Amino acid sequence: MVLRIVVGLVLTAVAFGLAGRRLWWLYRVGRAGQPAPERIAAVREHPGRDVETQAAEVIGQRKLLQWSVPGTAHALTFWGFIVLLLTIIEAYGALFSRTFAIPGIGHWAFIGFIEDLFAVGVLAGIITFAVIRLRTDPKRAGRASRFFGSHTGAAWLVLLMIFLVIATLLLYRGAQINTGVFPYAHGAFASEIVGHWLAPLGTGVNSVLETTFILAQLAVVLGFLVFLTYSKHLHIFLAPLNVLFSRRPNGLRALQPMRSGGKVLDFEEADPDTDIFGRGKIEDFTWKGLLDMATCTECGRCQSQCPAWATGKPLSPKQLVMDLRDHALAKGPYLLAASDEEREKLPDHVKQEAARPLVGDSASHGVIDPDVLWACTNCGACVEECPVDIEHIDHISDMRRYQVLIESSFPVEAATMLKNLENKGDPWGMGEARRAEWMEGLDFEVPVAGGPLGDDVEYLFWVGCAGALEDRARKTTRAIATLLHTAGVKFAVLGPAETCTGDPARRMGNEFVFSMLAQQNIETLNEAAPRTVVASCPHCFNALANEYPQLGGNYEVIHHTQLLARLVEQGKLTPVTPVAEKITYHDPCFLGRHNKVFSPPREIMERVPGVQPQEMHRCKDRGFCCGAGGARMWMEERIGKRINTERIEEALGTNPDTVSTACPYCLVMLGDAIAAKKASGEAPESLEIVDVAQLLARSVQPAQPVQSAQPVQPAQPVRPAQPVRPAQPARPAPPPPDTPPPAGG
Ligand code: SF4
Ligand code: SF4
Repeated sequence: MVLRIVVGLVLTAVAFGLAGRRLWWLYRVGRAGQPAPERIAAVREHPGRDVETQAAEVIGQRKLLQWSVPGTAHALTFWGFIVLLLTIIEAYGALFSRTFAIPGIGHWAFIGFIEDLFAVGVLAGIITFAVIRLRTDPKRAGRASRFFGSHTGAAWLVLLMIFLVIATLLLYRGAQINTGVFPYAHGAFASEIVGHWLAPLGTGVNSVLETTFILAQLAVVLGFLVFLTYSKHLHIFLAPLNVLFSRRPNGLRALQPMRSGGKVLDFEEADPDTDIFGRGKIEDFTWKGLLDMATCTECGRCQSQCPAWATGKPLSPKQLVMDLRDHALAKGPYLLAASDEEREKLPDHVKQEAARPLVGDSASHGVIDPDVLWACTNCGACVEECPVDIEHIDHISDMRRYQVLIESSFPVEAATMLKNLENKGDPWGMGEARRAEWMEGLDFEVPVAGGPLGDDVEYLFWVGCAGALEDRARKTTRAIATLLHTAGVKFAVLGPAETCTGDPARRMGNEFVFSMLAQQNIETLNEAAPRTVVASCPHCFNALANEYPQLGGNYEVIHHTQLLARLVEQGKLTPVTPVAEKITYHDPCFLGRHNKVFSPPREIMERVPGVQPQEMHRCKDRGFCCGAGGARMWMEERIGKRINTERIEEALGTNPDTVSTACPYCLVMLGDAIAAKKASGEAPESLEIVDVAQLLARSVQPAQPVQSAQPVQPAQPVRPAQPVRPAQPARPAPPPPDTPPPAGG
């Protein structure tokens, strides 16, 4: 008995010492990050919401269970370990008293049954994990495996340790049954089976086995505890914390404003010498960012959904997070050194790690390669999938901000777009005068607001740069305006007073240009004082609804599909002309996944007679990007397969007559892919891509005389004198030689 106690307590002291030291070190590395007071404040403000989140995400394993087989295996293991905490108490109790029973529970047979049930559940879970890992072994499946790039050796070791935890548990309980000290008379069915196997060895041997396996159980549990603190399984402790401090509802929708030292950066007062512009070093991330990195489970769910990874680009959201984490840990001693003298004394490998640029190519030993950083489309698939709520897009954008604002290093072809935004207010550089051309030829007058809209104007139609200036998107704009006119909706547009929302600049990392454009628009919008803004571009929609409030612009914003679906529902628009086509709808990421608008476009299609809607395999919150988001629209796609080609091939798999969408970016990207497929004979000449508004307009009865479209006072009826010019290039040509030379890319 004394031996049991001594060995058990020594093991415990050593394990807690090692684990505690490591956790303290990790905590200090985390504290080396920037403050994030907004995260603490959010938790304080919404304690109820946080309890609910913990219950759903952590205890309920909500996201994990969206992947039914691995999710169930994980839930069994997680819940099993919670229940099996009781058996650890019992094992410690048995160190001191062989007949120990937990006070308050005593010898209740039901508890013995539950413990064994979950022990078997954990075994089933790890067997399932083992089968999944064998079937998706990266050595065989290569990049297609979600475990490609993960530490698979450590994962197998953990499975072995979990198996040993359960095996030693059942063995000591089986031996206890045979020596007559087991707390539960019956119900512990698995332990009874093991006891039955051990019974022939006799009481004496079982007594030795009892002590041996109790100590073995504690040794394995304690060894596991120490190993956790050095491995990705640290997520067992960190996941609840990370979920607690994550953005709600998730890390999608708005990008976070630039913060330095915990405060939102004011560009007019910011000092490049003392303020932090984005993330240029690992310690520029906030403690929450560092917590994200430490929490990654390396499950690869994000990687499996990433369009960049799926099309052969070097970006994997998982590996990006892992690379940042590995760098943070390797640089840890440098971050924690108290003085330059201490830093000088550090081993060379630590100093070399500290000297690595955060973003840089292989020649400069950068932690994140520029090709990784700039491949992201901000589609949000990674954030949506991540079971521990890691905010990949925020981190990518923060690193882009530093590259753009401090290093002037970004893909060279995007320079033209940024210059056009600054000088002309639109990515194509076409200028405000041409923002009214889309109205030409309409048989009604579109009111252009030149001041307050007044109460009788229900909607301000936010046309967007593409909707006003890009020929394919102009068709959507005209269809929307015609439908609103037909429905008798009182609306107005801003015309030349509208300028880019700044979304492409912000997603590129140029927060300065975004801020400039957003403030200009907010002034215009505040003057117009719209009741509701209806945006046709999901990127405008997202910026206006979710990002402008950060700058004081608070408006009710809806997407045109939401308004049109409502008008159809209200009977103000009646689709009557059949469109007898098989139509495949593509979910725009910034409408669907980011803003959860999935139903209205589908409802519109369903109301058009003759339409046979069909879904692609990857749809709704698992939709696959068109490749244009994250300012990728303005960058060349030089590596791997084109994302729009991958998407259109999936659409072609449904054999559609038409592909529909609800975003001008998607219209352009998928339109380009369709054109390429037609040219190669892989798509029928008749295949086209339309916005659902165009589809609805084809089916709705011709406009009845409606008295709605009166000019808003003071009105500026726009009748452009010039005919619409030929189509502009959807993506800008490489910049002229006089463009400021950004490096990298
Ligand atoms: S946002 Fe999309 S493209 Fe970017 S890393 Fe995540 S999944 Fe990949
Ligand atoms: S970032 Fe999230 S989804 Fe991706 S591997 Fe890590 S835990 Fe899994």
